[in-house]
Amino acid sequence: MKLILLGAPGAGKGTQSDFIKSALKVPVISTGNLLREAIALGTDLGKQAKAYMDGGNLVPDQLIIDLMKEKLQSSDCANGAILDGFPRTVAQAEALQSFSDVDIALSFEVPDEAIVHRMAGRRTCLKCHSVYHVENNPPKVEGVCDKCGEALTIRRDDNPDVVLQRLNVYHEQTEPVKHYYEQLGKLRSVEGVGEVEEIRDRIFAVLGLSV
Ligand SMILES: [Zn+2]
Repeated sequence: MKLILLGAPGAGKGTQSDFIKSALKVPVISTGNLLREAIALGTDLGKQAKAYMDGGNLVPDQLIIDLMKEKLQSSDCANGAILDGFPRTVAQAEALQSFSDVDIALSFEVPDEAIVHRMAGRRTCLKCHSVYHVENNPPKVEGVCDKCGEALTIRRDDNPDVVLQRLNVYHEQTEPVKHYYEQLGKLRSVEGVGEVEEIRDRIFAVLGLSV
């Protein structure tokens, strides 16, 4: 099965993609791990990508698409793949569809306010990089890292204004991609609010998988 995950940053895609990956026994491919792997393997495309990155430049869309094509046609993906964070634009979706038929584009529906709330409760230790949450995973002593005793901080990226800004950009980019898959009859939506296991069960029902 070739599956695309669409969901805002903070919508919980990472956790759920682990469940889906285990059930389907297919790899999760993100643009980041695709680039890292190609560079580590030293493929032609990987070398090209490395040259852009070493120069502090963004890797061009076409190169990402070529890397994706190479990966999806490799034996790793013989049983399918889960794409996370790609395609981001309709142009990328069209390019993908030209060499690989997607089965389902699964959209995680989480209200922006819920994501802002989740992120606003995060507390990070800048020293040892532990992450806590004031409600779901609080430190033993408020404001202090359990592991190293450092004072916890709210990362700038987790501030409500910054999160909302990122969500706006996400929606602007992603709505057309959702529409594209809707027209192909491949879009499925899952409500991404609730307990992790509840959300997993909803996803598995949509995908026709057993837990
Ligand atoms: Zn710490």
